[in-house]
Amino acid sequence: MEVADRLKSIPPYVFAEIGKKAKALAQTGVDVIDLGIGAPDQPTPKHILEAMHAAIDNPVNHRYPPFGGTPAYKEAVGKWFNKRFGISLDPATEITSLIGGKEGLHHLILAYIGTGDIALVPDPAYPVYKTSTVLAGGTPHFMPLTPEKDFLPDLSAIPDSVAQKAKLLLINYPNNPTAGVANLAFFEQVVAFCKKHDILLCHDNSYSEMTYDGYKAPSILEVKGAKDIAIELHTLSKTHNMTGWRIGFAVGNKEAVANLAKIKSNVDTDVFGAIQAAAIAGLNGPTDHIEYCNKLYVERRDLAVKRLGELGWQVKPIKATFYMWLRTPEGMSSEEFSNHMLNTAGIVVPPGNAYGPGGEGFFRISLCTDKNRLSEAFDRMAKHAITYDMKKAKV
Ligand SMILES: *Cc1c(COP(=O)(O)O)cnc(C)c1O
Repeated sequence: MEVADRLKSIPPYVFAEIGKKAKALAQTGVDVIDLGIGAPDQPTPKHILEAMHAAIDNPVNHRYPPFGGTPAYKEAVGKWFNKRFGISLDPATEITSLIGGKEGLHHLILAYIGTGDIALVPDPAYPVYKTSTVLAGGTPHFMPLTPEKDFLPDLSAIPDSVAQKAKLLLINYPNNPTAGVANLAFFEQVVAFCKKHDILLCHDNSYSEMTYDGYKAPSILEVKGAKDIAIELHTLSKTHNMTGWRIGFAVGNKEAVANLAKIKSNVDTDVFGAIQAAAIAGLNGPTDHIEYCNKLYVERRDLAVKRLGELGWQVKPIKATFYMWLRTPEGMSSEEFSNHMLNTAGIVVPPGNAYGPGGEGFFRISLCTDKNRLSEAFDRMAKHAITYDMKKAKV
């Protein structure tokens, strides 16, 4: 049977593919270390689990939840947002629930991108930005993120003809996969650019709470007038160790929130009420687990910086996220390096080009593995002479 052209237009989800390769290798008896996963390794905190247990027994939650989120959930989101960023939101019009950030991104892109439309997409980036644009019939115009420019896009490099035509601009800070961070001054520039060209600005703030060394990530809505053109996506996945639960929210521009909610209400029937109740406990609740996990990520980061330094990768400690974005050894493509790591050392690292053509020549490691396993990974790299200055280890 023939599938639709739209399905042929997209690749298999890269992490599903990497997972298959790793599994196949593990089945041959290799002890595979997975530095590919971008998901917290710690369990969901207890106060959230307890709220879930109680909410399951409440028959209200056995029925369809209201579209756009329960009033209590939206209330809690508004309260958290105000406390965290000092921005007030109208829960009725400026907040909508999401089945995670990935779902929100896809549907927002479907709502704003049609056949032939342009979306301005960072390169490298979370793969959904590009793939959903292609699924919607649109064309991604890549904005390169390079270490030389601190992984911030150069808006002045976007041709006027492209900016005129673009409908949507996507950014994500703290950034996956580069760990780049942005300050308010940069956000001001993006807001001004999008206002000038009448483009919807979508900021993916998935990592707002995973920040270190005193760095605090801003919201795009802290920019004066941002609500005129910006929507921001949040998820409980990373902050509260809830990747399996599937819950997040979108906030900001009323029309964009309403358009996203409209497309969603035609496609899905929102988030299980009990999960929304659990998320409320997360938003209102204590934050010690966030501090605890951030401390873990910092310890792992410091270990990685030290050990990678010994292997020839001189890197600055990241200020946010749990990713490190590293150059592949000279003469090795991303794909070659990723295969080399898996086949010689039994270590999974996603190739940089999985995040877009601009990721060629890089690979990503994530810090979602405990220190012992991380250490073991660096031991194996040392043993197999996988180093940065490594013409000699070329495959
Ligand atoms: C993890 C992630 C998301 C969304 O995760 P969900 O689990 O779907 O909420 C969105 N954007 C980026 C950049 C991410 O890394």
